[in-house]
Amino acid sequence: MVAIDGPAGVGKSTTARDLAVRLGFVLVDTGALYRAVALAAREAEVGWDEADALGALAGELELSFRPGPSGAARLHLAGIDRDDELRTPQMGEGASKVSQHPPVRDALLGVQRRLGARGGVVLEGRDIGTVVFPDAEVKVFLTATPRARALRRREDLEARGKPVPPLDELEAAMAARDRRDSMRPVAPLRAAEDGFTLDSTNLSFEEVVDALEAIVRRRMQQHAS
Ligand code: C5P
Repeated sequence: MVAIDGPAGVGKSTTARDLAVRLGFVLVDTGALYRAVALAAREAEVGWDEADALGALAGELELSFRPGPSGAARLHLAGIDRDDELRTPQMGEGASKVSQHPPVRDALLGVQRRLGARGGVVLEGRDIGTVVFPDAEVKVFLTATPRARALRRREDLEARGKPVPPLDELEAAMAARDRRDSMRPVAPLRAAEDGFTLDSTNLSFEEVVDALEAIVRRRMQQHAS
């Protein structure tokens, strides 16, 4: 099991996806679960600040990852592919808000542990190496400066043909999300003490995946011997 944590826009999803392919592992994008709670809450007219109602809602959701046409896992809610609807800045914001609430985190803890239980998985999120799977064989904390992350987010939105806010706005939103994720009392965003930290500010996408793969293979060899 490989746990990859780090702040918004650092490229965790895309690098973790390629890493999983190289290793022959399944990828679990845990941010999608929080995004799904935000989406379901909006549809059920539950506010993103209503901790208990959100926790109850999260506990009842039927969440699953199923391969889409490209083979990549897509999040399904009650058996329906809702992945595209989750990948908007609004749902990123909503996820960041609903994830503050302990009842929501508790409800999703069991879901994440089930998804990772069989091993052979790369899980990416904020608290995988610290809370969800503190015993993961490999833990990596991926970082980059807020400006580098804003640039990557812009490229990503452009590539997907989505509206692109000005760079300063993206950077400010990123910093606000970091603050909220790092300051929350429950499962804050931080590097696991026994993990690796990889600063990707000056690395290309390919270099990040290469570095991650090298870390994982080295750790796995150490584990095996
Ligand atoms: O990674 P992504 O941008 O999809 O995550 C959306 C939000 O979900 C994050 O800003 C964070 O607040 C929350 N999250 C979390 N714990 C995780 C994954 C995501 O709190 N393991």
